Amino acid sequence: MNQPIAFLRPSSLFNLLCSFILIILVSSSFTWAQDSSNDTNVSTSWTPEELHTIGTAASAEQLEYYIQKLADFGTRHTLSDTVSNTRGIGAARRWIKAEFEKISVECGGCLEVFYVSGIVQPQNRIPQATNVVNVVAIQRGYADPNRFVVMSGDIDSRVSDPTNGTSDSPGANDNASGMAGAIEAARILSKYQFPSSIIYTGLSGEEQGLLGGKILTDYAIANGWDIKGVLNNDMIGNIKGINGVIDNTTARVFSEGTRYVETEREARVRRFTGGEVDSPSRNLARYVDLMADRYIPNLDIMMIYRLDRFGRGGHHRPFNEGGFPAVRIMETNENYIMQHQDIRVEDGIKYGDTIDGVDFDYAAKLTNLNAVVMASMAWAPAPPANVQIQGAVQPSTTLSWKALNPTENPQLAGYKIYWRLTDSNQWQWNTFVPSDVEEYTLENVVIDNYYFGVAAVSKDGFESPVVFPGPAGSFGD
Ligand SMILES: [Zn+2]
Repeated sequence: MNQPIAFLRPSSLFNLLCSFILIILVSSSFTWAQDSSNDTNVSTSWTPEELHTIGTAASAEQLEYYIQKLADFGTRHTLSDTVSNTRGIGAARRWIKAEFEKISVECGGCLEVFYVSGIVQPQNRIPQATNVVNVVAIQRGYADPNRFVVMSGDIDSRVSDPTNGTSDSPGANDNASGMAGAIEAARILSKYQFPSSIIYTGLSGEEQGLLGGKILTDYAIANGWDIKGVLNNDMIGNIKGINGVIDNTTARVFSEGTRYVETEREARVRRFTGGEVDSPSRNLARYVDLMADRYIPNLDIMMIYRLDRFGRGGHHRPFNEGGFPAVRIMETNENYIMQHQDIRVEDGIKYGDTIDGVDFDYAAKLTNLNAVVMASMAWAPAPPANVQIQGAVQPSTTLSWKALNPTENPQLAGYKIYWRLTDSNQWQWNTFVPSDVEEYTLENVVIDNYYFGVAAVSKDGFESPVVFPGPAGSFGD
């Protein structure tokens, strides 16, 4: 609970208590682990109001159930047992796949659930050839089925020795929390239909060198998936930092500043036209920040202008290396004595990534954030392609873009031209133009003094992320 209750009068407190008791009575008649509500809603005309509902939909109890289940596999190390049905990564991935399949049954088969795997040859942290297996669940869009927004968590865990596949390694926060969030988001969003597709995935081999993310990136490229955003969730449950800070009201979003796949020629153009802080990943991060401000109570985003934590890695990186917009969503305050540690007590200090370090309300809040971002992007038209800008030595600035395909984007109402001061971290001003417009001039707005971008807007008011002009900001075709 994060709502301040300090100023409630005693009578309000009494009412609040009664409500709690009522909620508990109602809840206990459900099996939380398997939400049996079959209220799949077939409406296709949601408004952004619905994002307020989605923004509080995740269940802390449900997340606790998922995280406990994952921790109970003993270890989910990439090199651990794959045959046992109770211990090791094989049992864990089969359970995750079964959970997605259960959710799919509830929504009349709305999820395509399958493994995407690859054999990784011996290398650093992989002593013998190993089958690295991801679980993928696709909720297919009805108008633009090949456009995707992705939420990922990780299946695998580790202790102090990165090649130890046998010791107990509950990996409750790192990263059962992110994995549980992806399953819970599927449970929430599978009750809706969207014009474009959503992928929920559990990636493996993260601790062995971001292997599962690379395998899924290669698979996405080979299959021509048009991924417009990856939300990689890696540790979304810790609120007590190693520095003594306790905080459940902020989260971090990491994003690369310039695209890893930028060519030398593109870098030369960018040097003269800008785009250092406007990669598609960075504008995806701004979108996450905006969604938190609008729809997630008591959550403020720290947009961190770097790929990841200092010198450290996460599974959004292989997607960036494949040319896809991807960010890392995670807790603000990390606790290193509970990460990558053998479970032990030393000098009175308890080490290990055990479930007592996870705050389920906080994990629910970050799950809500993911769900809102994915719902909003999947309801919105695609981010505009081929955005161009001109206006050097002129009083006005002209933006142009390629009209979105109306079959794939039947919800399209038009476009918004956005601009901001160059040192502002969020888009500040915008103007709307209808869907038949493909070029627009901002009269007497001088190109040198602002950064510009274009977003697509639906008839109901859902917006895509803002696309900065040129290759530097492109979300793809
Ligand atoms: Zn880790």
